[in-house]
Amino acid sequence: MPVSTFSRRKSSRRQMSSDIEEDRPSQSRADEQVEEADEGPSRRRTNGVKKEKKPNISRRQERAPEVNGNRDEDDEDDDDDDEDGRIDIANFRDQPLAKTDVVKLQGIARDWNQMEITTRQNWRVVGDVAVAIADAAEGEDAEQGLAELDIIMKDLIDIGVEMQAHEKALDDIAQKVGQGEDVDDAIERYGDGVQTRMEEYTKKTTRQKYAKSEEYTSFKHNIYEIQHPEKALPPITDFIPKEDGDASDDEDDLEMGGVSQVYTCPITLVALEKPVTSSVCGHSFSSNAILQSFQGSPTVKCPTSGCTKRFSRSDLKPNKELEKKVKAWQRRAQRAAENSDAEEIID
Ligand SMILES: [Zn+2]
Repeated sequence: MPVSTFSRRKSSRRQMSSDIEEDRPSQSRADEQVEEADEGPSRRRTNGVKKEKKPNISRRQERAPEVNGNRDEDDEDDDDDDEDGRIDIANFRDQPLAKTDVVKLQGIARDWNQMEITTRQNWRVVGDVAVAIADAAEGEDAEQGLAELDIIMKDLIDIGVEMQAHEKALDDIAQKVGQGEDVDDAIERYGDGVQTRMEEYTKKTTRQKYAKSEEYTSFKHNIYEIQHPEKALPPITDFIPKEDGDASDDEDDLEMGGVSQVYTCPITLVALEKPVTSSVCGHSFSSNAILQSFQGSPTVKCPTSGCTKRFSRSDLKPNKELEKKVKAWQRRAQRAAENSDAEEIID
């Protein structure tokens, strides 16, 4: 029995085992199928060649966002910016701008300022050429040459204004970011900022554009001095015909021995109110207007056309003497207007 039992057991074992074995193929087939199913990726994973490639792919994928984000290129561009002053606003694609970008923006704004200063050297060259022509030539040839230089001079002033518009637009964005504002549209703001400023400038009359430019004034006066050595320098407005929108000739500036004393604010373009004078460059402004233009910045570029100085609030001193002169000038202008009205009535 035991044998039998054993054998039965054995056989039953065998049976069992055979059952198991019988089942096995199907199980193992199933396993194989599962394995096969798994093997797709696993084979790829374990495949010698492909296995080596995988890290490369993943490395490439890791690198890809950098390429897309132009991080490397940006860094290179930044270096370029520093090296040759090339300005590329496309670098500012981080959105919204972080406070750390303020320094970058201000740096680019300074680049524009630097370019504007460099451009001024051309103004002087044009002025020198004009003087040489006025000195050497006479008649129509001289007049034609000087008229061409006049156009170039105005173009250069326009370019300077455009550069200032870029500088101010960037400064504006930097200020907004500095004040904690979410600036996620820096490129639009920059474009709009420049465009708005240029549209305002384009609307100005020829006098408003150039009469207060020191460079243009000295350009015209230098020519005049050569051509009319015995005469006193006329006001710059004599060289720029009055247009619609210009104040009458005697309203704008008071002429003192050829030196134009400006009683209007370069920001408001109307008579100075509570004037303050910059100790850095001597230019004066209506106090409210200049204080507003700081917009939270420690310094501001002088808004006087042709002036490149920067100053802080503490550089501005109230100018009581100038305030008196402005009031006297306003009274004279008022009287002149009344007189001309009276004349018109008499006529
Ligand atoms: Zn100034």
